[in-house]
Amino acid sequence: MPPTCSQCGGFLLPPHKWRDAMSDNWKPKTKLVHAGSRRSQYGEVSEAIYLTQGFVYDTAEAAEARFVKSGDDEFIYARYGNPTVRMFEERIAALEGAEDAFATASGMAAVNGAVFSALKAGDHVVSAKALFGSCLYIIETLLPRFGVEVSFVDGTDLNQWRAAVRPDTKLCFLEALSNPTLEVIDIAGVADIAHAAGALLMVDNVFATPIFQRTLALGADVVIYSATKHIDGQGRCLGGVVLGQRDFIRNVLEPYLKHTGGALSPFNAWVMLKGLETLDLRCHAQADTALVLAETLEGHAKLARTIYPALASHPQQALAARQMEKAGTVLSLDIKGGQAGAFRFLNALRIILISNNLGDTKSLVTHPATTTHQRLTGEQRAGLGITDGLVRVSVGLEDVDDLLADIQNALAQV
Ligand SMILES: *Cc1c(COP(=O)(O)O)cnc(C)c1O
Repeated sequence: MPPTCSQCGGFLLPPHKWRDAMSDNWKPKTKLVHAGSRRSQYGEVSEAIYLTQGFVYDTAEAAEARFVKSGDDEFIYARYGNPTVRMFEERIAALEGAEDAFATASGMAAVNGAVFSALKAGDHVVSAKALFGSCLYIIETLLPRFGVEVSFVDGTDLNQWRAAVRPDTKLCFLEALSNPTLEVIDIAGVADIAHAAGALLMVDNVFATPIFQRTLALGADVVIYSATKHIDGQGRCLGGVVLGQRDFIRNVLEPYLKHTGGALSPFNAWVMLKGLETLDLRCHAQADTALVLAETLEGHAKLARTIYPALASHPQQALAARQMEKAGTVLSLDIKGGQAGAFRFLNALRIILISNNLGDTKSLVTHPATTTHQRLTGEQRAGLGITDGLVRVSVGLEDVDDLLADIQNALAQV
């Protein structure tokens, strides 16, 4: 039992401190359900939504003291922190094995905060070239506007990383599994190169998920999630989070984020917090289905290629097996017949919905060349392996047989 108040009998706040002492030994599934919980004097089972922007102080002296230094359970303003947001941050930090975390309004607020807070004019960045569109915009277009020089490399080729880092390189940036071609990057290998150059390694880990890849343990310094994807997992809210060492989170990232306004809403934090409770179950079920689909569909007469990192045909299968517990919840199919073939396939699907989100309980399909990667030139797309027939399938929680029948039926119409 947690310690109780001698006057009112309620649990002494913050009970998470009592839990934290034990939670280091908990397995991930237990952490996802209990870590970071803060219980009010009412002893609620489900975490409360503290839908408040501000906090009151007993005295002027107390207000002054809190602005000088706030304790773990002392909040000032929801742009800086909020109890529900803090529960989400502490729960995901416990899962990831991170010293600390800062939650943000979206995945892009997390990427923006992490990247801009770590850099200044004159710095150099090395980035993998296969990036989510908005990440590419920040690194390729925004950073140079502020005097940061950027070199792009093929993320899968460690020699290119080695050749690109320089004494003024401050940051290496990559997506652990690239979108939509699912290239796997050697995190430990890039971490060694980054650290030898004195640079931070930041990893956008959305596709690998916090369940399948221990990205900090592999050597990354900062891990970023769009919580909009698997963490919500049910298509409701935008959110994001940055995880890393306490010094980076509190002394580099927090001053940037709290003054620039990318804070996560307490309501959305609550949705994400509850999403974490089922994250492990959902990711495993979705990845198991993705594997069955990939194995069954590979070699289908209407497919030029089936891309899934657990397939023997995947160029980094051995690395994926070493680095990830499972190969993720997304697979990509290169449909014969180019864009026309891909469109016929999409339009014939009955269960799998056409949408550009991923990580959802509902299976979703995207045609990157005409949607998420439309702004790239044909040459850029070709360089990233994004053919006109390529479709990305985010596998949901539906029955595997129904999904397989839906895909096979749609392929038959190509
Ligand atoms: C979706 C996504 C983002 C952006 O997240 P939002 O929550 O949409 O802002 C960043 N990186 C990757 C890899 C993503 O899939």
